[in-house]
This record gives sequence, C-alpha cells and structure tokens, in this order.
Amino acid sequence: MELLGVSETDAIKAILNLVSPFPPHATIQNWTRLSTFGHDAPTTKDLWKKLEGSDFRCHRCGSQMRLSFNNMNSNPKAHRLENLEVICFSCNRSVSKKGNKDNHHHYKLAMAAIEL
Ligand SMILES: [Zn+2]
Repeated sequence: MELLGVSETDAIKAILNLVSPFPPHATIQNWTRLSTFGHDAPTTKDLWKKLEGSDFRCHRCGSQMRLSFNNMNSNPKAHRLENLEVICFSCNRSVSKKGNKDNHHHYKLAMAAIEL
C-alpha cells in the first residue's frame, strides 16, 4: 500500500466498493427528481437489462467498479437506453467537462485492497 500511496481506510473502502451491487434505483431517483435530468428515467428493469447487456462492465475500460450511465449525446435529459453507455466512475469523470483527467485511482485502491 505504501508503494501505491493509499491509506488502509481507502483500501477498505475499495474492497466495499468491489462487493457492493450497483443500485440503478438511486440513478432513477436522481433523474426523476432533478430538472437537470428532465424528471424522466427508464425503469429499473430496463437499466438492469442495460447493465446485464454490458456484463456489468464499463464500456470503455472493462472495470466493474462504480458503474454508472453516460449520456452519449451529452444531453442529460436523453434517457433512451440506446443513448446510455455503461461507464465506470473514472471514465465518466474523464469524459465530464468538470472531471479530473486520468482518474483511474480506483485501480490503485483495488490493488491495495488485494494486497491486504
Ligand atoms: Zn471505465
């Protein structure tokens, strides 16, 4: 862990993230609650189908950690399934205008967690 520069607490958080199921209902709640997202969202069943179709992996890097959905046409109100890309937190941050670039920090955390 010293080599990776992460604390034991961060490593434990990484372990918990690895074993925590992705909760699409939280995404749906955000999309339907906030005007930014047009108060609209697919059903939980449809989002699960999307996740299953991606083998619960990020479309860009293959990671299974901290998955979410990216609106491929950059319209946060466009929630048609064909417009949504399963993407991990780090890749989502790297495509976001506000995101940090080169943010694959979770890989370092996961490797630290494996070393515990
Ligand atoms: Zn990714």
